[in-house]
Amino acid sequence: MNDNVEPNAGTPRRDIECRDLVDVLYEYVDGGCDENLRAQLQEHLDNCPSCVEKLGVEREIRQLLRVRCAQAAPVELRSRITTQLRVVYRTSRG
Ligand SMILES: [Zn+2]
Repeated sequence: MNDNVEPNAGTPRRDIECRDLVDVLYEYVDGGCDENLRAQLQEHLDNCPSCVEKLGVEREIRQLLRVRCAQAAPVELRSRITTQLRVVYRTSRG
């Protein structure tokens, strides 16, 4: 018998990479409430200081993620974050 089964074995999961973060975030912000996606976004931010630094709006993103399921995010906050993200990633892209 082999009991050495990893906790995540059999769970297909797409890890979010740094370059994916912004697209996924757009998708999340624009699309709606997806708990898995929200968890992945938060987990990535928890483990990726460079993204936190690059985004620079981490607190607002977390707030947005937190309130998104409870209520519609303020349009002003949404547009501000998405605009800033687009600028940041466009200018940092080779
Ligand atoms: Zn990252």
